[in-house]
Amino acid sequence: MRTQRQVVDYSLQKRAVLRDVHNGKIGTLEVCDASPYLKSAARFHGEPTEDRCPICRRDNLTLVHYIYGDELKQSAGQARKLSELPVLAMTLREFQVFVVEVCQSCAWNHLAEQYLLGRDALTADELDQVEAIAASAAAGRHRETGLSSHGWDARR
Ligand SMILES: [Zn+2]
Repeated sequence: MRTQRQVVDYSLQKRAVLRDVHNGKIGTLEVCDASPYLKSAARFHGEPTEDRCPICRRDNLTLVHYIYGDELKQSAGQARKLSELPVLAMTLREFQVFVVEVCQSCAWNHLAEQYLLGRDALTADELDQVEAIAASAAAGRHRETGLSSHGWDARR
């Protein structure tokens, strides 16, 4: 997503946790503790992946995107579908996204990454483009701009 910035990747922490699980230093119950809320967020708002769960290997991981920020008001802390984020990123100045990976079989969960989204990252020219696109969309002349479907470049 083009306004994505300040990305923090937690794959090193994940590797360390998994190593401890495989060494027996941490029990699987301690890491497979997704709450009912997280599990239902995964079911209803989650983004399926091709990655197998590192713990049970029965199911693919689901990514859940939580959004935080003052501008979100009562929506802060909610899980959103990945496809909803580009629209928010064009309407809000700045908000934080936390991406949590969840296994819906064994309840493994881990923070995968966090980043900022929002139009604060756009240059004046880009903002003009966004305004123009928003105006043409509002006028019912929506063009394929690519703005909302730039792929998920954070997925590595
Ligand atoms: Zn699992």
